[in-house]
Amino acid sequence: MEEMKGQQCIFCGKKTLTLMQDELDIPYFGKVLVFSMKCENVDCNYVKSDVEAVGIKEPCKVTFEVKDKKDLNVRVIRSSTSHIKIPAIKLDLRPGPAAEGYVSNIEGVIERYKKVLEGRRDTTDDSSERKSLKNLLKKIWKVQCGDIPIKIVIEDPTGNSSIISERAVIEKLKVKR
Ligand SMILES: [Zn+2]
Repeated sequence: MEEMKGQQCIFCGKKTLTLMQDELDIPYFGKVLVFSMKCENVDCNYVKSDVEAVGIKEPCKVTFEVKDKKDLNVRVIRSSTSHIKIPAIKLDLRPGPAAEGYVSNIEGVIERYKKVLEGRRDTTDDSSERKSLKNLLKKIWKVQCGDIPIKIVIEDPTGNSSIISERAVIEKLKVKR
């Protein structure tokens, strides 16, 4: 892990940015650069994390079926340019400048999503929304117990994302122009 303090923040322009980067070697994928940025300027608080594959990658669509609890440990590389979908639990993580990139596993992806839903459940004034969030969270809990099989799809026009398993189906993504 390399840490560089006092970098210029791309958001506020002050030299208060700390950049951390690390290189991981992921079997069946290759080297991945993992980095995070955090601006120490309290008026700015810019944070960003992302991953980038070392070397040229093709636009990809990766599909994986989670059949049991063990499959939740399968590694996921998620870059900010990827679109992740788990239709069974209405998970739809879109790409964009605010999207976080990280290396985790399927469980980790679900766990992050769960936290967002829990936050919404605890703050909403709409009782029907709260009810549907509660039901969705119950379903996610069953998924986490391995009781409900799910399908996870990642599409990434930069090819910087993947699901690391022999059973993952990797196709070339047709990029819309
Ligand atoms: Zn800043």
